[in-house]
Amino acid sequence: MRYIDLRSDTVTMPTDKMREAMFRAEVGDDVYGDDPTMKELEDYAAKLVGKEASLFVPSGTFGNQLALLTHCKRGDEVILGDDCHIVQHEVGASSVIAGVQLRTLRSNKGALDPQEVKAKIREEDIHFPETGLICLENAHSNGRVIPLENMQEIHNIAREHNIPVHLDGARLFNAATYLNVDVKEITKYCDSVMFCLSKGLCAPVGSMLAGSREFIDRARKGRKLMGGGLRQAGFLAAAGLVALKEMTQRLKDDHENALLLGRELSKIPGIKVNLDDIHINMVFFDMSQTGYDTNKLVKEFLNRGIKINPAENGLMRFVTNYWVTAEDICYVVNTLKELIKNRA
Ligand SMILES: *Cc1c(COP(=O)(O)O)cnc(C)c1O
Repeated sequence: MRYIDLRSDTVTMPTDKMREAMFRAEVGDDVYGDDPTMKELEDYAAKLVGKEASLFVPSGTFGNQLALLTHCKRGDEVILGDDCHIVQHEVGASSVIAGVQLRTLRSNKGALDPQEVKAKIREEDIHFPETGLICLENAHSNGRVIPLENMQEIHNIAREHNIPVHLDGARLFNAATYLNVDVKEITKYCDSVMFCLSKGLCAPVGSMLAGSREFIDRARKGRKLMGGGLRQAGFLAAAGLVALKEMTQRLKDDHENALLLGRELSKIPGIKVNLDDIHINMVFFDMSQTGYDTNKLVKEFLNRGIKINPAENGLMRFVTNYWVTAEDICYVVNTLKELIKNRA
């Protein structure tokens, strides 16, 4: 049975082209530096985001944590938003792996206040930790894209204090699509960037970490330490190359579908959607006023061929992706209307 899967864009299956490319990939032991397809991906990805070098990592979490490990020494402090993925969804790894202290700032819908960032940078004092890194996230996992001026301002402050900036760009290409700019216009405001191949770009596994040659050389060793030295990884790189060459330019379709979904949901009495917050492929909404139990919805939807996640902090999140069509969106909305209308 074919499901309409709105749980995340991580659920995307590889395209036929990716399967072909994986089947035919020329591979070697990448820990020995012998994998030509991986080399091609790492060169291609680095150029794409305007950095000297890049490195394939098993997941986005791995890439972010490797960035912390490579930029910081133990005990350093990292400045970042209190609602960012590194704080909320990475199992506390920063304290386990890099051994850093997270200094969270309250974010304004994902954006940090540059003056507050500046105020939190540590001076030299025998009691203080050293500020080792500033982390930004764009697109944010709240579905919004952070304005470039905000990134630029924070990057300038970081430069003045000689502190690197890492960008969690899991959905970097969604952000570029929304802003209608080349990704380099975003990545020029960071020293390192992580972006996922495995989300809306449909590759089965993997993310990239990009930065200066020197940074990536050190990160390569850190990746080995973390158990991420992969052998014939060219099979994954082959799919990643298709992701970067063919899947980044079509994300606007997912964004349009998300907007369609948001608009149609907002017409259902009792459903609250903030349409202004739909920048990429994610629709957050509150359906508590409908009186329909959201855990029941998960079950009833599943019976009707739709997969969704339960509410988190009272909010539902539907994510569009390559395998979800505008027709599917209409089916989802109509099914929801029927369920609410006929509820016992
Ligand atoms: C998904 C995501 C990650 C982590 O990626 P995984 O591959 O799931 O580990 C990191 N940051 C953001 C903003 C994400 O959305």
